[in-house]
Amino acid sequence: MRITVIGTGYVGLVTGTCLSDMGNDVTCLDIDENKIAALGRGEMPIYEPGLAELVQRNVRDQRLRFATELAGAVAGSEVAFIAVGTPPDEDGSADRRHVLAAARSVAGAATGPLVIAVKSTVPVGTCDEVEAVAREHSPHTIDVVSNPEFLKEGKAVEDFMRPDRIVVGVHSESAESVMRRLYEPFVRNGHPLLFMDRRSSEMTKYAANVMLATRISLVNEIAQICERLGADIRHVRRGVGSDKRIGMSFLYAGIGYGGSCFPKDVKALSSMAVESDCPADILDAVEKVNRHQKMVLANRVIAHLGDAHGKRVGLWGIAFKPMTDDIREAPALTIIKRLTDAGATVCAYDPEAMENARAALAHNRRVELADSPYVAAEGADALVLATEWGVFRSLDFERVRASMKRPILFDGRNQYDPEQMRALGFTYSCIGRPNA
Ligand code: NAD
Repeated sequence: MRITVIGTGYVGLVTGTCLSDMGNDVTCLDIDENKIAALGRGEMPIYEPGLAELVQRNVRDQRLRFATELAGAVAGSEVAFIAVGTPPDEDGSADRRHVLAAARSVAGAATGPLVIAVKSTVPVGTCDEVEAVAREHSPHTIDVVSNPEFLKEGKAVEDFMRPDRIVVGVHSESAESVMRRLYEPFVRNGHPLLFMDRRSSEMTKYAANVMLATRISLVNEIAQICERLGADIRHVRRGVGSDKRIGMSFLYAGIGYGGSCFPKDVKALSSMAVESDCPADILDAVEKVNRHQKMVLANRVIAHLGDAHGKRVGLWGIAFKPMTDDIREAPALTIIKRLTDAGATVCAYDPEAMENARAALAHNRRVELADSPYVAAEGADALVLATEWGVFRSLDFERVRASMKRPILFDGRNQYDPEQMRALGFTYSCIGRPNA
């Protein structure tokens, strides 16, 4: 099948590459000329395990190409995916301008019947608007389907190739049959390909993300109560998660959720609720708890430092979670800002996110970037673990402790064993455990 993907970011690049790997003929488009030029030279714009090899193979076999010119790519395509960003507007609602602009251009470039599949996370009802815009700009039959993406950064290729489910919101039988043909190779594992109406499909994406965000905020709130009452969230998690109705995943206490999806999607659904005159008390509480949780560790570090001016804090992990270079809305950035606003210098290290961090933190004179976790800890009055990359688990902690000015470790992800850390000579503080 001939396919065009508009927007070659985390979602678009993974989508286009995985579809080409199933034998489709795919062109990935972007308005960012530098990104397309870099891809043309074989350079990856993002870090995503396994993706570079797939891109290389499919480019070599001429099933995958990258372009900035829409017209040539869309002509003859059966499906055009829209995978552009939907960042939050000032009022928290999702900004659909890029989606609608892409729809206009795609429709204008269509040379025959086309299915536009909206992969971006969009407010309920957006596909109706996309359809109206597309029909206005094309004499051909344009079907619009909602096809939200559920991949997790860090496991994106695996998630796309072997999805838990694929959701497609359709309005016509012919569009359903095109999408079934496209996706059947991906559900040979027996997982469902779910067809539904477009609004339910658009809502499914928000509902999934806010449920996961809610679990995180709820476990973080329980962790705070644990600390006050002398309970240990690690034990509570096991005790609660063993209940089949609840399950273990997304029950880790920490420094709050981040990334390009949960924060904006919680706000966007709340904004949709307000617009439709519906209460969104839980969503607002989820967001409020998360905002608070992002400050918990930073405030604790500041309380420990006393006067933060002239003090040095080492920080491990900047990406919003391990196995990605994505730092959008990363809790580490909130912690860095809070510490440097208070007068401390932060020396940070991340295994993959240094380039993004350099760009995002260039304005902050109190931030230094280290080229190893050991360098980040050197001379520090405190050390913060903000992202639980595997590489931070088994370092030479004797060396880390010896190089620090004051060996205190603030573990924002409950990665370490408190007794072990104390035996190594650290003062140790974590989330949701007694004496934290
Ligand atoms: P991104 O910012 O990484 O990529 C978006 C790309 O679209 C950018 O490269 C941008 O230059 C390009 N673009 C914008 N307007 C364009 C246009 N008119 N024509 C061509 N290209 C254009 O964003 P992302 O993280 O891939 O997210 C895309 C959408 O998918 C969002 O709605 C997001 O909520 C959703 N989503 C993201 C994830 C994730 O993990 N990142 C997961 C599921 C869903």
